[in-house]
Amino acid sequence: MKPTGLLEVTAVRRVTPRVVRVTFTGDGLDSLESWPDQQLKLLFPPPGRAVRLPSADDDVMRWYQAYLAIPEDERPVMRSYTVRARDGDTIDVDFVLHSGPAGPATAWAARAAVGDVLGRYGPDPAYRRPLSTADTLLCAGDETAIPAIASILSEVDNALVFIEVADAAEEQPLPGEVRWLHRDGAEHGSPLLAAVRGATLPEGPAAWLAGEAGMVRSLRRHLVGERGLAKSAVEFTGYWRRSLTQDDAPTPEDLADAAEKLEDSAAWKGS
Ligand SMILES: Cc1cc2nc3c(=O)[nH]c(=O)nc-3n(C[C@H](O)[C@H](O)[C@H](O)COP(=O)(O)OP(=O)(O)OC[C@H]3O[C@@H](n4cnc5c(N)ncnc54)[C@H](O)[C@@H]3O)c2cc1C
Repeated sequence: MKPTGLLEVTAVRRVTPRVVRVTFTGDGLDSLESWPDQQLKLLFPPPGRAVRLPSADDDVMRWYQAYLAIPEDERPVMRSYTVRARDGDTIDVDFVLHSGPAGPATAWAARAAVGDVLGRYGPDPAYRRPLSTADTLLCAGDETAIPAIASILSEVDNALVFIEVADAAEEQPLPGEVRWLHRDGAEHGSPLLAAVRGATLPEGPAAWLAGEAGMVRSLRRHLVGERGLAKSAVEFTGYWRRSLTQDDAPTPEDLADAAEKLEDSAAWKGS
């Protein structure tokens, strides 16, 4: 299956006050392989224009170069999302309508309507990672990580799950037991960090972390530095950054994280 194509909205519904679930159909989705944590890039056209996609290319770098070659006023904005569910030739994507200034993806989701068309790159099986085989998998994240955690929970029954959301209305039914943490006005990340710091963990767990980048960094430091988990046992992704868009240049901390992920991935490929 080509990892790129158009997506057309077939349904839109609010699953919580701050999460919009958009169902898309599109060429190639029916032959999509199944694996947990399927990430994709969504391409949002400039207001009032049709989405213009680079020509399909199996090589992601060539595809990206072709994307950058699209004139700026026609080039779609690209943002990362996760498949929440699949059914035949449709996929669901959950968009968090976050507080603060809405970026292009969030603004689009708030107004999404049946018939709207976006572009996609992915999900691409080349980025598939096997789930840890440790006895316990600690999953921790904020609301943007719920789609990925839901897909992981459908595959494993040994997960210890901590999810931080704005308040009780943002909880979603998920398989297994989830410890929900409510910000209720507290600083983003602080309830989740406190809960993980205070948790009794079994011997030798692996961890999967995603959400706001600073929060993920602090969680990882705690697990590796204070709990003694091997770096290679902690899979982590900063999904978004405070006060920065996905287009803004990486900070030195982002670059350090990326270097560590490259090392982990090289170790994983060599193992
Ligand atoms: C692999 C991956 C998978 C992801 N999966 C999902 C998913 O399934 N659902 C989902 O909703 N998000 C998901 N995200 C996060 C999403 O890509 C970001 O939140 C993205 O920045 C949203 O784009 P935007 O255009 O709305 O905002 P941007 O233009 O990127 O940013 C605009 C402003 O909004 C702020 N901001 C961005 N996101 C948030 C947030 N969640 N809460 C508070 N402030 C925010 C930024 O700090 C910035 O100030 C994923 C990210 C990655 C890397």
